[in-house]
Amino acid sequence: MTATLFTLPPAFTIPVNGESAAYPVARIFCVGRNYAAHAKEMGHEVDRENPFYFTKSPAHAIHTGATVPYPPGTSNYHFEMELAFAMGAPVFRATRAEAEAAVYAYGCALDMTRRDRQQDGKDKGRPWDMGKDVEQSAVFSPLTKAADVAPLGPQRIHLEVNGATKQDATLDELIHDVPEIIMDLSRYYHLRPGDVIMTGTPAGVGPVVAGDVITGGIDGLDPIALTITAAE
Ligand code: MN
Repeated sequence: MTATLFTLPPAFTIPVNGESAAYPVARIFCVGRNYAAHAKEMGHEVDRENPFYFTKSPAHAIHTGATVPYPPGTSNYHFEMELAFAMGAPVFRATRAEAEAAVYAYGCALDMTRRDRQQDGKDKGRPWDMGKDVEQSAVFSPLTKAADVAPLGPQRIHLEVNGATKQDATLDELIHDVPEIIMDLSRYYHLRPGDVIMTGTPAGVGPVVAGDVITGGIDGLDPIALTITAAE
């Protein structure tokens, strides 16, 4: 094995309920505008034909319960509560049956976003990275294996800031469901174990400030929490 000049942090891993071994994360894909009411609040028409994606670096992933400083380079840092799922099998150009069989586990996630920098990208036709690929912005709860999760649909997905409800929807409001996401994304990527996908956020996104405590949950999955402290 070739020696390295310095040592990188170990791969980010997510605990899995009922497993002593954790799930190692190689890539994080995120779906944009996957709830109609959220697309509308962001000023966009709903596009049921074409899901779109952005990515977050696994180096920017953290666990539920973390306390993080308000990030640099923004004055409009937003919460986005999301269903995440983890791939358990390799798929390429998946059929619906292959997609359904390839989901290993589900969890709660936060897609924290510099909304002002994302808007810059939209206005200027530039990438979204400064808005989305923010350090410590991908937050994950422990995963629950797919076999232990009821069929997705009626589950409530919700988020609170300091106990006040900000997002409240159900998973059947997803425009593109989990198999559809896998079928579409696997036209572009060889999806494989280690890939985690955030499925988009319901309506009600909004800003946080230092001192805020974010909590969220999805029925049947481990809840998620994040505390924001003063900027460095
Ligand atoms: Mn999102």
